[in-house]
Amino acid sequence: MAGLWFTENQTENYGITMKINKTLHTEQTEFQKLDMVETAEWGNMLLLDGMVMTTEKDEFVYHEMVAHVPLFTHPNPEYVLVVGGGDGGVIREILKHPSVKKATLVDIDGKVIEYSKKFLPSIAGELENPRVDVRVDDGFMHIAKSENEYDVIMVDSTEPVGPAVNLFTKGFYAGIAKALKEDGIFVAQTDNPWFKADLIREVQKDVKEIFPITRLYTANVPTYPSGMWTFTLGSKKYDPLEVSEDRFHEIETKYYTKELQKAAFVLPKFVQDLTR
Ligand code: SAM
Repeated sequence: MAGLWFTENQTENYGITMKINKTLHTEQTEFQKLDMVETAEWGNMLLLDGMVMTTEKDEFVYHEMVAHVPLFTHPNPEYVLVVGGGDGGVIREILKHPSVKKATLVDIDGKVIEYSKKFLPSIAGELENPRVDVRVDDGFMHIAKSENEYDVIMVDSTEPVGPAVNLFTKGFYAGIAKALKEDGIFVAQTDNPWFKADLIREVQKDVKEIFPITRLYTANVPTYPSGMWTFTLGSKKYDPLEVSEDRFHEIETKYYTKELQKAAFVLPKFVQDLTR
């Protein structure tokens, strides 16, 4: 793709286009098409099945918002699970919380981990940290085998297609509730309200039937479809809107702030309607 313009077709009628300087690696793995490219605008970028997964320039938004909202909501998160997340960005953010004793990452595709370490060192740099346990496995199976183990679970998966199709089902969310401790919290990336409103509505309905506290928050991720990204949070006990001031210890971030801990949950009307 060197010197060309790459387009991700976000719908059959609309896409995002960017200039590619060179292709760093490309292969069909056991699970998906993996492309690692150098872009003119966004630095190195990971694509899976032609969809933007992460870029060096804007990755901090998504990874900080997946990790810090639940980790500051929980009063003492020690054991954390990431389903997917093979680029390592969420793991890097989790480790900024000293209370975390162990962060387990379960990604189905070891090639994503391998090539993220090689070409995305600023994102994947903590995957070999002693507090991190990396496993190559199906997250759906890992959740099915887990019980009362985790304080926080983050689902950082691809879109609900291919290997990730099971990761957006009510059965999976019920499995997450079982894998969490009795005061556990989970967050899942739940795509964008412009092109995937039905998905968000369905996930909100399913999670509400399982968790006493269910919320939706957003962040601006310019290289993701529509740029407006959502995250669904399910909590057994702690409310992300009721975090006391003294809970916020200093951490280095570029997007997340303790004000955004609450403000991210303020939704425009057309997005609010998806949570009713
Ligand atoms: N932040 C990105 C997004 O919001 O689309 C996701 C990035 S992360 C690289 C997505 C990861 O999910 C991929 O590495 C993929 O291998 C992994 N994945 C997909 N299905 C999976 C499954 N069933 N179990 C574990 N990991 C899975």
